[in-house]
Amino acid sequence: MPRESKAAKIERAGIVTKRMYEHYPQTKGYLDFDTPFQMVIATLLSAQTTDKAVNKVTPELFGRWPTPEAMQEADELEIQKVIHPLGFFKTKAKRCVECASTLMSEFDGVVPQDIDDLQRLPGVGRKTANVVLNDAFGITEGIAVDTHVKRIANKLGFSKSDDPAKVEQDLMAVFDRSDWLPINKRWIAFGREICDAKRPRCQKCFLTDICPSFKGEG
Ligand code: SF4
Repeated sequence: MPRESKAAKIERAGIVTKRMYEHYPQTKGYLDFDTPFQMVIATLLSAQTTDKAVNKVTPELFGRWPTPEAMQEADELEIQKVIHPLGFFKTKAKRCVECASTLMSEFDGVVPQDIDDLQRLPGVGRKTANVVLNDAFGITEGIAVDTHVKRIANKLGFSKSDDPAKVEQDLMAVFDRSDWLPINKRWIAFGREICDAKRPRCQKCFLTDICPSFKGEG
């Protein structure tokens, strides 16, 4: 494929945004929470499991330890029992308590609205920080790049990198800032339904005419 100009890439990115919007108008997150603190904890718990599974355990978890004050005092073993079905429950329980303690000691118990401050919380990387900023505060500082977003960015020729931070930079360079926020939710839905990691369903895809990876099969 001939080298694509930046202008052409930006134009293609606009088309992707428009079609993603048409197919996935809903961009609300699927995790249940009442406060930014609960959003951080729910997001930490969602690693390697489904949002649905997290939503099954958080009513009890947040019922017993609803705030950073309460959770920093929690017995990790008690938390482990509640979140056991999610897997990696020992590490996750430890993270919950550490995260609550750091919030209390460094941020007066208030979840920061800054991407760098958020990443000072144990277990919170740039992807999680972006998700929290988006979903808890409606703030867009970047694009949350998970495995689906990375793969689709590669397939669509917006990034050649395997490094989420570099993929994020590549996407931010061609997608309009006002479109960053919904990319994570919509591309995850698209990745699950159509551009599957093992077997992309290209015949069902609405991006074949602008996808450099489309080979007319799927
Ligand atoms: S055409 Fe195929 S590879 Fe390209 S985005 Fe669609 S499903 Fe993915």
